[in-house]
Amino acid sequence: MSTPKNILMLAGDGIGPEVMGEVKRVMDWMNDKYDSSFVIEEDLVGGACYDVHGVALTDETLAKAHGADAVLLGAVGGPKWDDVAREHRPEAGLLKLRKEMDLFANLRPALVFDALIDASTLKPEVVRGLDIMIVRELTAGVYFGQPRGEDIRDGVAYGFDTQIYSEPEIDRVARVAFDLAKKRTGKVVSVEKANVMESGVFWRRVVSKLHAAEYSDIELSHMYADNCCMQLVRWPGQFDVIVTDNLFGDILSDCAAMLTGSLGMLPSASLGSKDPVTGKIPAMYEPVHGSAPDIAGQGKANPLASILSYSMMLRYSFDMGTAADKLDQAVQNVLAHGLRTADIMSKGMHELSTRAMGEAVLVELEKLG
Ligand code: NAD
Repeated sequence: MSTPKNILMLAGDGIGPEVMGEVKRVMDWMNDKYDSSFVIEEDLVGGACYDVHGVALTDETLAKAHGADAVLLGAVGGPKWDDVAREHRPEAGLLKLRKEMDLFANLRPALVFDALIDASTLKPEVVRGLDIMIVRELTAGVYFGQPRGEDIRDGVAYGFDTQIYSEPEIDRVARVAFDLAKKRTGKVVSVEKANVMESGVFWRRVVSKLHAAEYSDIELSHMYADNCCMQLVRWPGQFDVIVTDNLFGDILSDCAAMLTGSLGMLPSASLGSKDPVTGKIPAMYEPVHGSAPDIAGQGKANPLASILSYSMMLRYSFDMGTAADKLDQAVQNVLAHGLRTADIMSKGMHELSTRAMGEAVLVELEKLG
């Protein structure tokens, strides 16, 4: 029996419980088939937690998240909680979780599945085989920098934020990008606006210093954020790993996501720093999509983004690359057989419910052995 892997599953709101239900079935399959010893503990987050406890994340749940080997989250939010005070809104629970776990590196893959190539608004020859990993700094930069606010100066009203990064904040996220590149094609593009921003000049210097000192085997290039946006739609195949700050990462990862054409297919991971004593890296895995209140409870949600988030967990938290490859392949095969949930449905394909899509993945996994 392998060492137990303690997973905290926070299904959240809307379609969260539906899509997480399918992930659970895949995990159970992995336990049966590979004796992989996933132990799932479930708890509340977001609106579901507010309804019971009056807060979107309890201290007990946060402590469980700290203690778990990885956290798997569905989605939070919905119109039911629109009038709740900002600090208790469902999204506040998710932000607190990310902040308290110090999940500074957000990994957003943009992967185009052959069978879904027509879902992209770009030409098939531009997006075929696309496999980009965007590493976004998640806990610093202009979204957190001080001072921020509004002011009246000499009778004129101002609004302002501060873009600020320390060397360790840049160094640690660049390290994640370089380490990922080692396992991929060995190429990193670092993105900032060094042409017009002092913090961009600093970002470039810190990344280059780390590269020269420890990662000279990786091919590093630098790109301005506006050019990167343009290049992503012009010729996305040129990229492998992109590392960038919080603000540019927010924009570029959404842009790259749309290359793939479907929100219901996009996984993500957020990672923290390795504990020097235990060697554990805090990690949370979640689909990119929200709680989709418009389709919640109808069995229409696509569970594949969540299943692919679990695949990222296998790969990055547990070094189970072979199992992750198998799961990714099972998803590819399901799509190649023309099976679709409503959000990715097209003419001539066969429409499935959330449950049936989870079942189809299990059938393919079984075939792959
Ligand atoms: P959304 O991602 O929930 O939905 C956008 C559209 O995509 C909807 O039409 C929805 O039906 C569809 N969609 C999303 N995921 C899908 C899936 N797996 N299968 C099929 N269709 C899917 O974004 P929104 O409508 O802007 O936000 C709804 C709620 O979710 C809001 O309360 C928002 O704050 C919250 N939200 C949460 C997260 C998160 O938990 N990480 C992220 C984004 C939005």
